[in-house]
Amino acid sequence: MMNANDRHKKVRLSGNDDCGVIFCPGCGILEVSIGATTMRFNHASFYTLGATLSQAKDRLAELQETSVPNGNASPAGIKHVH
Ligand SMILES: [Zn+2]
Repeated sequence: MMNANDRHKKVRLSGNDDCGVIFCPGCGILEVSIGATTMRFNHASFYTLGATLSQAKDRLAELQETSVPNGNASPAGIKHVH
């Protein structure tokens, strides 16, 4: 019997079993796995997710830079978001 999964040879793009991205060329679907959770994206959503995560990382880095203790007792310039 022919294996139905033959046309769905998934390719791991990055990561490992705990956290990674798998691509199915047959479907054009990207699966992002973190622990027991798997999220499926089409290309457009995947790129949107990537851009959003990238922007969040940049913003986080900025916030962490400005919040690094520098001996100055005045926390001027630090905004509390919540
Ligand atoms: Zn597939």
